[in-house]
Amino acid sequence: MNIIFIAAPAAGKGTQGNYLERECGYYRISTGDLLRKEIAKKTALGADIENIISKGELISDKIINTLLINEFKKINGKKFILDGYPRTLNQAISLDDIIDIDNTITIYLDIDLETAKERSLGRLICPKCGTSYSKDNPELMPKKNDICDDCHVKLIVRDDDNEETFKKRFDTFLEETKPVLSYYQYKKKLYKIDARLDDDDIFENIKKILKSVDVDKK
Ligand code: AMP
Repeated sequence: MNIIFIAAPAAGKGTQGNYLERECGYYRISTGDLLRKEIAKKTALGADIENIISKGELISDKIINTLLINEFKKINGKKFILDGYPRTLNQAISLDDIIDIDNTITIYLDIDLETAKERSLGRLICPKCGTSYSKDNPELMPKKNDICDDCHVKLIVRDDDNEETFKKRFDTFLEETKPVLSYYQYKKKLYKIDARLDDDDIFENIKKILKSVDVDKK
């Protein structure tokens, strides 16, 4: 089963996506990571993207759909996780033309504003592989202070992980992305998990959902 994660910022879609990638052989597509890679190239397009992200707004469908379609070409038949797409109803409708929805479920990681804000403000990421770490949560701290466990480069704070941009991103989620949940609920493709739980418990719940869906399909 392919998985679409829908969640407010800092709810843990990247962390869970990484677990699934490492333990279950998924191909993870994070549209946020794709955009940050574009910014790192220091192109004119990257500068435009950086400006929009720093305001907590959404990138245009034209740009994001092009990046997504290019990434889908690399999947090589693997099952995939979509982390950060779709974020609008229009994106959800476009996605129906790209993926096999019968083999895809949507998981909503439900989190409240205060918990998400705390996680966002405590987050560090690896500029090379995009893995998220936490300054506060022992489960997600790097083995060596401020250094990525895998790439051994210095971790950084994301430009949009500050109080003001976080608030705007959360509002954007409520206005633009939350309505997408009804779209998948109507298609009977929606599962919900309490994202305030520990990461290990969230991961166990995801695996339970995948197991139950597999059993239902047989
Ligand atoms: P994320 O890493 O998923 O938190 O995404 C970081 C930022 O990238 C978001 O706040 C948006 O500005 C932008 N972004 C990521 N995915 C999308 C998308 N599907 N559509 C539009 N903008 C996106």
